[in-house]
Amino acid sequence: GKRGWRERLRGSAFARSFGGLFYTNPKLDEDLLDQIETALITADVGVAATTELVAGLRKRMNAREFADAHALLLALREQLLALLRPVAVPLRVARDGKPFVLLTVGVNGVGKTTTIGKLAKRFKDEGRPLMLAAGDTFRAAAVAQLQAWGERNGVAVIAQGQNADAASVAFDALQAATARNIEVLIADTAGRLHTQQGLMAELGKIKRVLQKIDPSAPHEVLMVIDGTTGQNAVSQLRQFHAAVGVTGLVVTKLDGTAKGGVVFALAREFGIPIRFAGIGERPEDLRVFDAEAFVDALLP
Ligand code: GDP
Repeated sequence: GKRGWRERLRGSAFARSFGGLFYTNPKLDEDLLDQIETALITADVGVAATTELVAGLRKRMNAREFADAHALLLALREQLLALLRPVAVPLRVARDGKPFVLLTVGVNGVGKTTTIGKLAKRFKDEGRPLMLAAGDTFRAAAVAQLQAWGERNGVAVIAQGQNADAASVAFDALQAATARNIEVLIADTAGRLHTQQGLMAELGKIKRVLQKIDPSAPHEVLMVIDGTTGQNAVSQLRQFHAAVGVTGLVVTKLDGTAKGGVVFALAREFGIPIRFAGIGERPEDLRVFDAEAFVDALLP
């Protein structure tokens, strides 16, 4: 449902700048385009997407397509939606008799562990047998956190302790999941190693090892991205995508950030499905990404 999106995203730069524009009855002129440009840049939509959006609106304004400023703002809203509709593709977890392997990646602090817990709860509530793999062997706390979560929620967690080989944990987990008729295996991975190259190599190795058991695994490489990091998120995704081939995104912490416009930049540059949006810390705040609800919440 759409409930909650608007109240959670109220603090966004979008809601503030565009709220003013929509309600003050501005004139249809270059100054309006300037204000829109500033608002888009402020919300971290990015220079490229902003330039395209504003140029498109200017062309139509000059061709006298808009009766008034309101019509132009509605066109902007339509264009923002058009950017997001193609990426609002929900995750479909096949039920085909073998474990669906969901490999979660992303740098530390973005909300990866929290997201794994929320996803696991979602699958558990759907009654789907699931298992977790504690693949962030670089951080002792990450393994402990996942194990504690598993104990609290009655979900098996495969772990080998700190400094174990992450690929070996993933291999063990997929073997165990296959033997136990598990439907969903969620594998955590490190968000930081001694070097960035080391991290990318480790993620590549995890993928290759999983494929020894099931050539079609991982079925989803889900990258968790912190929506408050703005344009940084774009360069993070570029790097992970080049290294492991990201097939889906979770954009977290969209509640209360001024930089949520980065969602448009990500959609425009990569076209990778945005599976979920984090709009708060409670389990139910991990929402299936809904383009209409998101744009509705940003613009009046
Ligand atoms: P990790 O290092 O990537 O595993 O990050 P954590 O899962 O430990 O999360 C870091 C912090 O972000 C925690 O305090 C989470 O509660 C918080 N967090 C995660 N997702 C969201 C979200 O959608 N909204 C808000 N406001 N906080 C979030």
